Amino acid sequence: MKKMRYLDNVVTLRLDEATCIGCGMCPRVCPHGVLELFDGKARIVERDLCMECGACARNCQVEALSVKAGVGCASAIIHSWLTGEEPSCDCGGSSC
Ligand code: SF4
Ligand code: SF4
Repeated sequence: MKKMRYLDNVVTLRLDEATCIGCGMCPRVCPHGVLELFDGKARIVERDLCMECGACARNCQVEALSVKAGVGCASAIIHSWLTGEEPSCDCGGSSC
């Protein structure tokens, strides 16, 4: 089955690879395979699959990851799918 994607290039996920200590927790907790461990560091491999759930950032002990969980375009679109309402994230863009 094809993985669910949201809008391209709207995800707030950020990774500071210099801060990452390669513990491997974020790939384990990410439900969408957005992150993987490569050469002892996390890296983002599928940014647009991120649903901004915040699990990776909450479980990163060195705060190498940040994401605005529960806000933004991805969250607005998920909310609209669940409620049938028009998506709105107040981003000012025309894409949602
Ligand atoms: S916010 Fe959620 S979906 Fe996005 S990378 Fe982190 S764990 Fe994965
Ligand atoms: S949880 Fe943090 S320290 Fe661990 S691999 Fe992911 S980014 Fe690196």
